[in-house]
Amino acid sequence: MARETPAITARYCPQCAGTLMPRLLREGEPPRLCCVQCGFVLYLNPKAVSAAVFSHDSGIVLVRRAIEPAKGHWALPGGFVDLGETAAAAAIRETMEETGLQIGLTGILDVYSSGTNEVLLIVYAADVLGGAERLGAECSEIGRFAPELLPWDEVGFETTRAALRDYVRRFFPRVRVPRFA
Ligand SMILES: [Zn+2]
Repeated sequence: MARETPAITARYCPQCAGTLMPRLLREGEPPRLCCVQCGFVLYLNPKAVSAAVFSHDSGIVLVRRAIEPAKGHWALPGGFVDLGETAAAAAIRETMEETGLQIGLTGILDVYSSGTNEVLLIVYAADVLGGAERLGAECSEIGRFAPELLPWDEVGFETTRAALRDYVRRFFPRVRVPRFA
């Protein structure tokens, strides 16, 4: 299953390589990592991941992950937003890399985060504009699922399950989603 503990941390200052120590800078906020040498404060924030949810050949497209975390589980096409890239562009780029499909975004579905996971997931609804299905290096399979036959138990991340639930409710309102989802 997905790693559920935030894994982002650091021991050394990115400015001067001094030692970072947690210090309470402001009441009510978590301790911040402060450099004992130069005073630099390293703020730890969730990492933005963009993903797309869309139907193609009458099925919702999921990719089976070939890498950790959640190796072997289903996920939405998506990945980390690069610095200098918009979240929307990242969703389009990652979908092309992982599925070979050219998509156009039709709107934001929602933003998902759990507080126990380092990822902030931004999910766009999309349509397929072109391209040809081609499996990317980080996936072992491309799957298409009817909305009533989604593999809820094999979805790798809680946030992805929540996004799929919202997508089905919005675009296939007559399909019942499981209670756990
Ligand atoms: Zn420093």
